[in-house]
Amino acid sequence: MTTDPNTQASQKATRKILVVEDEEALALGIRDAIEHAGHTVSMAHDGDAALEIAQAGSFDLIVLDLMLPGQSGLDVLRKLRANQHTVRVLVLTALADEEDLIRGFEAGADDYMKKPFSPRELVARIEAQFRRDKLESAPPAMLELPGDIKVDLARLEVHRDGTTIPLTPREGDILSYLIEHHDRVVTREDLLLDVWHYQSANVETRTVDIHIVGLRRKVEPEPSKPTLIQTVRGKGYRWYS
Ligand code: CA
Repeated sequence: MTTDPNTQASQKATRKILVVEDEEALALGIRDAIEHAGHTVSMAHDGDAALEIAQAGSFDLIVLDLMLPGQSGLDVLRKLRANQHTVRVLVLTALADEEDLIRGFEAGADDYMKKPFSPRELVARIEAQFRRDKLESAPPAMLELPGDIKVDLARLEVHRDGTTIPLTPREGDILSYLIEHHDRVVTREDLLLDVWHYQSANVETRTVDIHIVGLRRKVEPEPSKPTLIQTVRGKGYRWYS
């Protein structure tokens, strides 16, 4: 196995990013820089299209210029937030006016960049947003589960029925991974690639099932009727919350 940096870059999560910018040269520069960082880009060049595309697709982040033809970036942002869209939004502004930035944050922007900037600076800001996502979704060190079961992920211990049961590091990693990705089904392949760090998931996926059974015995109130680590038939597993 090599540690070629290109291989590492390709293993980084690919994110879906919408770039809303009406200055064409800038829009293309931004798109190229983001794609170079390994993410996929959709584009919109005015406020109306931006709102439509943002609402139709599921994006991880929107780069949103404030001065746009049609409705402004601020209007787009307010409407997205009014519709409960929680996507991260990084606004671009040529306006040096502090009032505009304050309005941008009030409307729900997560970060901003003042023009002019280099596309590389922008990509660094975008990656910082994704790191923040990861931190915010990381499980707490002490998990309180139904049935008065507590899991200390730092010490790898389960406290239940007055006893302490050790977790293996692998079990701790699986549990953290399931919790971090509680908003979706986690497949056996996901676990083999991201927790076991196998290069390919074309191996015995029963390894995963056996570990899940062991983990359920430790953390489920009723291991024979699991409710926390749910089986999604034909797909994988899903954390209950
Ligand atoms: Ca503009």
